[in-house]
Amino acid sequence: MTRPILEAKGLHVAFNGVKAADDVSIAIHDGEFLAIIGPNGSGKTTLLNICTGYIRPRSGRVLLDGHDITRLSPRAIARRGVARAFQIPQLFSTQRVIDNMMLALAATDGLWSAVRPLESPARRDEAKALLDLVGLAGDADRISSTLPEGHRKLLDIAVALALKPRLLLLDEPTSGVSALERFPLMEALMSALRQRGITALFVEHDMDVVARYASRVLVWNAGNIMAQGRPDEVFSNAQVRQRVVGVA
Ligand code: ADP
Repeated sequence: MTRPILEAKGLHVAFNGVKAADDVSIAIHDGEFLAIIGPNGSGKTTLLNICTGYIRPRSGRVLLDGHDITRLSPRAIARRGVARAFQIPQLFSTQRVIDNMMLALAATDGLWSAVRPLESPARRDEAKALLDLVGLAGDADRISSTLPEGHRKLLDIAVALALKPRLLLLDEPTSGVSALERFPLMEALMSALRQRGITALFVEHDMDVVARYASRVLVWNAGNIMAQGRPDEVFSNAQVRQRVVGVA
């Protein structure tokens, strides 16, 4: 197997004595769509926060392409190609979809300031290309708050893709999304990742989504990985079925 894009080694994190990561080590390889499942409060979001610089572990290291990023700021890690999409989309809700994209691109370029125009033909084209990539080209002029939740999630993903990441971390991409929208959202996401050659790690509670789309699954329990493997392997594990799948 190739060298991992991202590796976490021996992570320890505790909040008020509660262990959110207890000697956790993981590796994410090029092209994977890696799912993290597990009960609420078991430390899944904490792992995303460590990998993106929002939380510093008490001990352990995070390596991106073999380089230590454990102590870098979220901004510095983002610049190195690790983007994040959130459980609750981080959007300017009263702005149009296309404006959210242009703001994201401007922020990524580091050129957003009062004295420079937000809009340029090149930026508009890039914004449209990203919207097209996630299947939102037809929604460009809508006010973001009027989008169905699945489309808001896709817009948040398109905003993250403005960073041109190699690795995308997603916190529950289908939460709050209607059953009808769930698979179309995942299809659009998978197609965007494939077209751009992006590797992804996603926290997910919907086991149908995990079974259908994940290339590998990590099962989290009380700050530890209790099992990992292909979806069919993990879901046939009696301990996982009892402890996680039933309550997830
Ligand atoms: P999950 O994503 O699996 O639901 P989290 O990573 O959000 O779990 O939380 C793991 C544990 O760490 C929980 O007990 C949670 O209350 C605690 N925790 C997470 N972040 C913080 C924080 N910033 N401050 C205090 N406690 C936290």
